[in-house]
Amino acid sequence: MAETTIANILSIAGSDPSGGAGIQADLKTFAARGTYGMAVLTALTAQNTQGVSGVHLVPADFVATQIRDVFADVRVHAVKIGMIASADIVEAVANALATHRSTPLVLDPVMVAKGGASLLAREAVDALTRRLLPLATVLTPNLPEAAALLGEAEATDRDAMADQASRLLALGPRAVLLKGGHLPGNQSPDVLATRDRLRWFEGVRVLTRNTHGTGCSLSSAIAAELGKGRTLPDAVAAAKSYIAGAVRGSDALAVGSGHGPLHH
Ligand code: PLP
Repeated sequence: MAETTIANILSIAGSDPSGGAGIQADLKTFAARGTYGMAVLTALTAQNTQGVSGVHLVPADFVATQIRDVFADVRVHAVKIGMIASADIVEAVANALATHRSTPLVLDPVMVAKGGASLLAREAVDALTRRLLPLATVLTPNLPEAAALLGEAEATDRDAMADQASRLLALGPRAVLLKGGHLPGNQSPDVLATRDRLRWFEGVRVLTRNTHGTGCSLSSAIAAELGKGRTLPDAVAAAKSYIAGAVRGSDALAVGSGHGPLHH
């Protein structure tokens, strides 16, 4: 890519009208990372910083139409998938992306919101594993999502994380970034598993309630960096450092009385 070209990054995800997670977080992240953001909606949620009160799905064939229209006209440098809601939408997205295998794809397997609301139907986990994992350049689960994908208990230490990341890799993605933010203690290490090795990214937990949309923003930042042409380890390192700054800056915001958003 010529240096003057700005990368075009597409998010396929759900809406959070309070602006902290979902498509809104993705677009803010794309802009903050110096890329041009685009968004295909899979679902509308009604929510604020205190929780999700409703979900309204976009018909699966219309999700596919949105994706096809974007690709028919725009050179897409990377894609991020977030909330994908139902098995029908998983199938539609997988079919629409099947002819774009060379575009880097960050798959954030969004399942449950912080408040406990389900953002992915139970039967859709199977479809996600079968249809979307094999298309992913990198899969970015947190510990509960990894446990749900593998059908086992959550990892509680680094050895278990390394083991689960390797077994998720065997399900088909080219890499797995397993995020340790839910580990006990004050460390928050992430592990990146690729065919040849494991790489650890260290992090210290930031003490704040304002973590709404952290996973959405991290996967979007990785997509933006991949779209700019960085290697995956470099993209992960840059994205993690960006998110750490956005979490630290969140106390400057006064948005709602629950889990507040990040400051992009
Ligand atoms: N709402 C939407 C539309 C999302 O995509 C996500 C997460 O990916 C969430 C809510 C959950 O955000 P959090 O668990 O960070 O509060």
